[in-house]
Amino acid sequence: MIFVRSFIIAGIIAIAFGYSLSKFFGFWEATVLAFVIQFVVAFVYSSFKISKTNNLTADFENEVEQLLSLSDALVPCPCGNFTYSGNVFINLENGYTCEKCNNQFRIDVSLTPTLLTTPVNEVSHTFEEISEEETKDVSITQQYTKGTEL
Ligand SMILES: [Zn+2]
Repeated sequence: MIFVRSFIIAGIIAIAFGYSLSKFFGFWEATVLAFVIQFVVAFVYSSFKISKTNNLTADFENEVEQLLSLSDALVPCPCGNFTYSGNVFINLENGYTCEKCNNQFRIDVSLTPTLLTTPVNEVSHTFEEISEEETKDVSITQQYTKGTEL
């Protein structure tokens, strides 16, 4: 239906072009020329659109692959003869079947936070600074402790 409709529309446009350009080319020459040009333009446009869609799909697949590679993990099997390699996700029940011992295993992911910054107290002094001042002047330390109590 869409094809028939666009064919009719292309025909009407071609006839209109043929009529308006009949002084220069002759009616039928101009009509056929306009008809052919419309098909060439439509073909070029649709192939451009298809290649654009293909590029987008390829880009998306690359990004998904990059994301998946972030969760790549090597898990040595307790039997010692096999190492499972695949994607391991935090919020999924991950598992594998060992190729050597034929047992099924669940992979548990444990998360451990590691402190990377220097600890800072409420009045923006590092613990190291406070302990240095503590050894120099006892009264300042008392002020600090009073400050934290308030
Ligand atoms: Zn095994």
